[in-house]
Amino acid sequence: MKDVIIIGAGIAGLSAGFELYKNNIDFQILEPENRVGGNIETLKIGDYLIESGPNTFSSLSKETMELIKELDIEDLLQEANPKAKKRYVYQNSQLMPVPSSLKELIKTDILSKDAKMMLLEELFIKKEEKEETVQDFVERRFGREVLKNFIQPYLNGMFAGDVQKLSANAVFPKLKELEAKYRSIVCGMFLSSKFRSSFKELTLYSFIDGMETLSNAIYHKLKNKITLGAKDIEISRAKDFFIVNFKVNNKTINYTTNSILFAMPTYAMSEFAYLLPKNYASEITQIEYSPIATVVHAIDKSTVEACHGMPLDGFGFLCTKEAHRKLLGTIWTSSIFPNRAPSDKILLTSYIGGALNKKITDQSEEEIASLTAKEVAETMQISDVNSLETVYIKVHKNAIPQYNLGHIEKVKHIEELMDKNYGLFFTGNYLSGISINDTVKASRKATEKIILYLNKFVRKQETLVT
Ligand SMILES: Cc1cc2nc3c(=O)[nH]c(=O)nc-3n(C[C@H](O)[C@H](O)[C@H](O)COP(=O)(O)OP(=O)(O)OC[C@H]3O[C@@H](n4cnc5c(N)ncnc54)[C@H](O)[C@@H]3O)c2cc1C
Repeated sequence: MKDVIIIGAGIAGLSAGFELYKNNIDFQILEPENRVGGNIETLKIGDYLIESGPNTFSSLSKETMELIKELDIEDLLQEANPKAKKRYVYQNSQLMPVPSSLKELIKTDILSKDAKMMLLEELFIKKEEKEETVQDFVERRFGREVLKNFIQPYLNGMFAGDVQKLSANAVFPKLKELEAKYRSIVCGMFLSSKFRSSFKELTLYSFIDGMETLSNAIYHKLKNKITLGAKDIEISRAKDFFIVNFKVNNKTINYTTNSILFAMPTYAMSEFAYLLPKNYASEITQIEYSPIATVVHAIDKSTVEACHGMPLDGFGFLCTKEAHRKLLGTIWTSSIFPNRAPSDKILLTSYIGGALNKKITDQSEEEIASLTAKEVAETMQISDVNSLETVYIKVHKNAIPQYNLGHIEKVKHIEELMDKNYGLFFTGNYLSGISINDTVKASRKATEKIILYLNKFVRKQETLVT
């Protein structure tokens, strides 16, 4: 009898497995694909190092750093070029630097004088206790310009989401906390040392050989505990344990287990909905996902400098909704990590689609690649679109879970379900943050609950029997 069967070997399942391994818990991870990592996928194509999914850790959380140290891959970390802290928004057909200090905010042309005045008026705005959309929250406190020129593009980069649907409470919990405690967020930002320290020294990281270093390192530690190519997974509940059947190369394998940890996207969980109480099942499986296509281009450095007239010395840019682009934004990959391309080339990673452009998935890869090239050329003022060489394209049909209105309640119910001692546990990027840092944290929380469950019910029964 296994203690835990983990379903899914993305970073959620892998990091949970590693926690269980450290605690001497017997588990097996089942993954339908023939590789681990899920969204994390690094490719070497010609002279380029490409990320299909996540590009960077925006700073390393305590949990991720511990994981990296325990895997002994700290030496392989790569810090981003410090200039990559500079970010741009594409607004009014121009790339405008995003202010990173109060002084820059006062001077920026991204906001009008009236919009800057509204930031001061925020001090006097009443707090709202009800859950509200990002649009309602930001417009109410900071005004429409802040919403469309900062928040919408920022959320294009984070969630590829729709501000009219995303929940401010789920997406910006720290800002809602400040509002609740200090009434004014601006005031809270200055008064809360906890808030200020969480934003201090944000440094971007990857690994020298890309993000897959992390998932591969866990794979190498847990190899015997991971079954790749596990198809047709079926789970049935016996009295106080589960029976799990699946096929590998058409051969049926089965396990009995004390508990299940679902570490897969929620839309895929519908096939296991029969295991969950009805109301929970519909809530969990109905979480919406936005599609994103990752398109990577290479271009001669000399061509970009001549067209654009400025060095690409930042992280990249995000598009405002008013730019009417399908392009969400473009990362200047070789400016962030110069080792990703030969020195005479620039490597650009663009994201297209999102919650407001779901139809992107109806198009062929060729159509998406040429649309992206056209929009990248226009936004970056590259006169000859043919100078952009498409190196890679991947369409992520269900890329990012959307923390829409009601999400906080859903997460609360999922936590409740884990605490009900049914032996069913959940982890993934749909719980309390979509970043790798947040996903690792969610997995640690889930494994703590599993260990508690095993100690309380399974180990106790074993002691009674012996
Ligand atoms: C384009 C893109 C860019 C991103 N950029 C960043 C970034 O720069 N920084 C950052 O921190 N985060 C970023 N993210 C988010 C981050 O990559 C994810 O949130 C994180 O990798 C999610 O991990 P996960 O294990 O929860 O899910 P996944 O990575 O989706 O893994 C789920 C696993 O479950 C498996 N599975 C699926 N269906 C089934 C099934 N039916 N049965 C069993 N197993 C199944 C899958 O094969 C997969 O291996 C990005 C995401 C995308 C898509």
